[in-house]
Amino acid sequence: AYEDMHRVRAEARGLVHLEQSPERLRVETELRGAVGRGEFRVHLQPQIDLASGRVVAVEALARWYHPEMGLVSPGLFVPIAEDSGIIEEIGEYILREASRVVAGWREQGMDLELAVNVSAVQLNKPDFAELVHKVLMESGLPCDRLVVEVTESQVMSHVAAGNGNLHRLRELGVGISVDDFGTGYSSLAQLRRLPVTEVKVDQAFTAQLTDEGSSAFVAGIVGLGQGLGLRVVAEGVETPAQLQALQDMGCHRAQGYLLGRPAEPAAVLDALLAGTPVPASVAV
Ligand code: C2E
Ligand code: MG
Ligand code: MG
Ligand code: MG
Repeated sequence: AYEDMHRVRAEARGLVHLEQSPERLRVETELRGAVGRGEFRVHLQPQIDLASGRVVAVEALARWYHPEMGLVSPGLFVPIAEDSGIIEEIGEYILREASRVVAGWREQGMDLELAVNVSAVQLNKPDFAELVHKVLMESGLPCDRLVVEVTESQVMSHVAAGNGNLHRLRELGVGISVDDFGTGYSSLAQLRRLPVTEVKVDQAFTAQLTDEGSSAFVAGIVGLGQGLGLRVVAEGVETPAQLQALQDMGCHRAQGYLLGRPAEPAAVLDALLAGTPVPASVAV
């Protein structure tokens, strides 16, 4: 099993091509029913408001603990879960579990927004917006506390499907974020037709913030976001210099290892109450 995972990881990194390999099929087989067997967990990563320095939101990130393979990263299982349709079940679980946790914190007086990653596979189901509404009602999290993140490269496939889910979510008060912004091929004209409320600067650009040309690129995204009235969140903030540069540009929010690692909800709550970043020791 260990060698299998090694090969599939290599495939995910594009080192070998194993379209319908037995290894990939094994992951798909193991993914089926994994939610039901309780192998999935939600981890949360804080987002900081750069004007106040306060934690204002958490992003939910899926974690798969397989009994033999151990912790399998989303970079590996998400594409397979999307191809096989299993992402629907995983996505619903993550939304349900994360909104239950954040609604519980809210009852204790901690009012945070929740960001949840959503696949185009989910978005292209005609009743997706209604499902989100139902899950939020059951968990008690107000609709305006949720933000759905769709990657820039997937948002256009939703436009093609034309089922209006994003507009319906927006009507409910849910925020719409374009994730990994700057890496896709959306045009401004296309973006303007969508009810987007936020863009997330991809971590690849944040990483290059100290070199001049790339700083101009991030500054351009921040300026574009401000001009369009969108909130701008920078991902992958790892150094104080990056944080300072983003603050100087007027970026609204930041997320990254410097400010807190993704971790299980109890550890995130402890760190929030103590006012400290989530330390690497408790984070995965
Ligand atoms: P994403 O939504 O862009 O999430 C950010 C990723 O960057 C996460 O990786 C996070 O752990 C990582 N990260 C956060 N801060 C830093 C930092 O300072 N430095 C670096 N190098 N990385 C940082 P993760 O958790 O492995 O997730 C990878 C991707 O998998 C996510 O990218 C998202 O596209 C997808 N994903 C994760 N959970 C879900 C889910 O529940 N549903 C769907 N559809 N996709 C998910
Ligand atoms: Mg995301
Ligand atoms: Mg991203
Ligand atoms: Mg990403």
